[in-house]
Amino acid sequence: MTHIFHPAPIETVDTSTQASWQQQLADVVTTGRELISKLNLDPHYLPAANQGALDFPIRVPKAYLNRITPADIHDPLLRQVLPLKEENEPTPTGFVLDPLGEASSNKTPGIVHKYHGRVLLITNGSCAIHCRYCFRRHFPYDENNLSLKQWLSALDYIKARPEINEVILSGGDPLTNNDKRLFALISAIEAIPHVTRLRIHSRLPIVIPARVTNELVQRLHDSSLNVVMVVHCNHANEIDEEVAAALQTMHHAGIHLLNQSVLLKGINDNLNSLVNLSERLFTCRVLPYYLHLLDPVMGAHHFDVKEADGQNLMLALQNKLPGFLVPKLVREVDGRPSKTPISTPLSPI
Ligand SMILES: *Cc1c(COP(=O)(O)O)cnc(C)c1O
Ligand code: SF4
Repeated sequence: MTHIFHPAPIETVDTSTQASWQQQLADVVTTGRELISKLNLDPHYLPAANQGALDFPIRVPKAYLNRITPADIHDPLLRQVLPLKEENEPTPTGFVLDPLGEASSNKTPGIVHKYHGRVLLITNGSCAIHCRYCFRRHFPYDENNLSLKQWLSALDYIKARPEINEVILSGGDPLTNNDKRLFALISAIEAIPHVTRLRIHSRLPIVIPARVTNELVQRLHDSSLNVVMVVHCNHANEIDEEVAAALQTMHHAGIHLLNQSVLLKGINDNLNSLVNLSERLFTCRVLPYYLHLLDPVMGAHHFDVKEADGQNLMLALQNKLPGFLVPKLVREVDGRPSKTPISTPLSPI
């Protein structure tokens, strides 16, 4: 075991008085009343919040709450966690319960295999935060809350298919698993000879950066697999100093860092937000990967950005940033063998 080289962090944070990530995961805001009172918002938002929470509960960790500007209903982080009245409006055509057909690709519990060479392993159903736009807001998580034994048998699916060289830990959020479960799973994956890459899709480094413990970073550093961490960050305001420090620690440990975000109306659907997000991510050693058009899930239609508006934003972004800071605009179309890239119109000469 080699030890991670720790250069002087660019942004240092005093974590000595901080709650552990498990405490932070347990101590979350789960009611509209608390969210509205803590953020000093007008109480008239409460009935809609309560109504929306019946469909998909509210869940906001304190570390995330602290980055929200009080008394601002337009705050881009607040919009991701507070149910608004639009969630409860009748659903436009095309917005469905399971937009990606995951229920049908989910024949082996815990496995979603849609693309060549890589599989999603649904490690558990829980998330640290509940994002109102989530395409899995109606996913049958309970059936995918696997015991360790079931996990290991989900791995038999991978063992039997030598063409799979990448395992993607997904969820819910895979990093809500404790280290014991997570490390046992990683070891089991490492033991499959044809798997060479481990990808972790997690919002925890953004939402509760204390999850990026030295033990976790060391384990990923020591892995025989090539490790990619895809964080899910939608707005530059989500990256405070502590998040930045967590990202840089992973970078220094040789973990490839990518970001995927969702293009969300009223949150990041403007040129400034997207430029700032890419720039901020890069200062933290993260490259933008995908910018997703919203999956048409029931209850999230008010976040939808029209494809043409997305294309125009991409054009503007392309004209403003170096190519490596421009994410790929994609949407997920059920039945296709990959994400579907959305082309950018040509700039006038
Ligand atoms: C998005 C996704 C992947 C990963 O796709 P990449 O293009 O490799 O990022 C794999 N499996 C499923 C089911 C997915 O939805
Ligand atoms: S963290 Fe990801 S899976 Fe969990 S609620 Fe948010 S968008 Fe959905």
